[in-house]
Amino acid sequence: MCGIVGYIGPQHATDIVIGGLRKLEYRGYDSAGVALLGVDRLLTERATGKLVNLERKLHSVEWDDADARGYSIGMGHTRWATHGGVTEANAHPHVSMNGRVAVVHNGIVENAIDLRHELLATGAVFTSETDTEVIVHLVAGYMTAGMLFERAAHATFARLRGSQAIVLLSLDEPDKIIACRIGNAGGVVVGIGAGEMFLASDIPGILEHTRRIAFLENQEVAVIQRSGFRVRTINGGEVSKTVTNIPYDMVSAEKGEYRHFMQKEIFEQARAITDTIRGRVDFATGRVMLDALNPLNGGLLPSKIFTAACGTSLYSAMVGKFLIEGIARIPVEVEHGSELRYRDPLIQSTHAVLGITQSGETADTLAAMAEGREKGARIWSIVNNIGSQAQRVSDGTIAMRAGPEIGVCSTKTFLASIVDQYLLACALAQARDGHSGASFALAQQLSHLPSLMSQVLDKNSIYAELASEFHDREHFLFLGRGINYPIALEGALKLKEVSYIHAEGYPAGEMKHGPIALIDERMPVVCICIKDAVYEKMLSQVEQVKARGGKVIAVATEGDTEIAKRADRVMYVPVTHPLLSPVITAIPMQRLAYEMAVRRGCDVDQPRNLAKSVTVE
Ligand code: GLU
Repeated sequence: MCGIVGYIGPQHATDIVIGGLRKLEYRGYDSAGVALLGVDRLLTERATGKLVNLERKLHSVEWDDADARGYSIGMGHTRWATHGGVTEANAHPHVSMNGRVAVVHNGIVENAIDLRHELLATGAVFTSETDTEVIVHLVAGYMTAGMLFERAAHATFARLRGSQAIVLLSLDEPDKIIACRIGNAGGVVVGIGAGEMFLASDIPGILEHTRRIAFLENQEVAVIQRSGFRVRTINGGEVSKTVTNIPYDMVSAEKGEYRHFMQKEIFEQARAITDTIRGRVDFATGRVMLDALNPLNGGLLPSKIFTAACGTSLYSAMVGKFLIEGIARIPVEVEHGSELRYRDPLIQSTHAVLGITQSGETADTLAAMAEGREKGARIWSIVNNIGSQAQRVSDGTIAMRAGPEIGVCSTKTFLASIVDQYLLACALAQARDGHSGASFALAQQLSHLPSLMSQVLDKNSIYAELASEFHDREHFLFLGRGINYPIALEGALKLKEVSYIHAEGYPAGEMKHGPIALIDERMPVVCICIKDAVYEKMLSQVEQVKARGGKVIAVATEGDTEIAKRADRVMYVPVTHPLLSPVITAIPMQRLAYEMAVRRGCDVDQPRNLAKSVTVE
């Protein structure tokens, strides 16, 4: 969840560490800290709140030498608290009692209470409420008992339960950084430079400096020095790592002319969808080609697909169920990533488990995929982060190709992952049906999608008007039916996330079974009423809301004059193939949520309590 950056080399470590943390701030941001190591000194600074508070503190440090190059080893952390409140004492790094070992940590030490009791009994004095602090006392304890730094680190890692990433520095060996990954929470990437090395919890943290990256896997420990790095398992087994060249475009991680990343990412969506389709459909024939996912295994399609995902990706998976069942006629079960493994799911070797995760590091989704692996299913993923854990553990992947998504609330990756499931559905159908079948014409439909999306993105005034009319409401209801029901859920989630307005998404037909009791003249109801098979049913829902004094904001098909007579406000979208309509109807939801958040003065890109990549369970 948190961001970690480390550096060892000839430059002043602070600049690189802080610069990297800034790129990772979307991962967690309730407090931040750095530890800097010189030959005979260990300096730590910590501050609550955003990174800028820490930067301010660092500006007032009086460095011993003018350019502070003495501190050529450093690590930094932005925290997303799991154990202990948001205080400076709980911020990382944590330092041992003798002041010689420092740790930063991502994830949870599940046996922290037992370890704390054990350490207290040996005289350890704790200065924080975190689970993390046990790590540094254990390492220092082993070193006091005579172990060298690396051995003490391995001995400590072997005692930790739970998924986590740990980075350690020691004054006793001021020429190295030790990093470890345990389980699925918290990625660790090592960046290889010339005479300098980098380390981060995610690629964007160091991409400015190097594109040559090695990924640590579960149970691996890296010892990083200026000249290179070596990796062993916690048990001491040798590991040889491959180095991947990352083809990311850093420029696209800048805000440019936009006020917020969320806004930029909404407006990038037509481009993101063009990229995710590019090279994957032969538009002359409609054939779909997925380079890194073979729908057939031993000549067979999966007899069932379990899609596991969290948050926005879960709603994408719910749309995907309509797509895969509708186009490929393969049954799909959609599961919360956090739930799948707790109900002994009936997954078999003839099934596929599909994980959808923007970061590719979502701990709950990874755990669901691991459950599928254990039960012998083939494992597929749809990820945005190239090289991420979800991609690495999969038998087949579809990359979203949406480019870096920095705004904490997902927009372009939501739409890209829906389109990727559409591609998957067509690929599955085509693998089964050979050269004929509806899936070829359906795949050709994708060629129209980016320009239809641009039409929705080009309309500007209505969203700001809606925000000025409704920004002071406390509750919103979102209604949709069929394939657009998950879009109602997503609309409600977007509004909650960025504007802190309570919102509920509901299948429109269910309104009369409960939520209708909430409707009065203070309740805006967003109804997705496009001209599709459930249009008339949706009109009846609109009438029911109006009859109770509710305010209807409709998403409707361009040219629909009927709806204009009934709804209070209308957000128009162009005519689209019904199976692709969610890609279009989601855009007004995103834009409404964005404008509401701006109007309410909320922190759009870093909403409170949220983090972009949720690597704790
Ligand atoms: N569990 C640790 C804490 O609460 C680390 C949380 C994080 O990943 O930032 O401090």
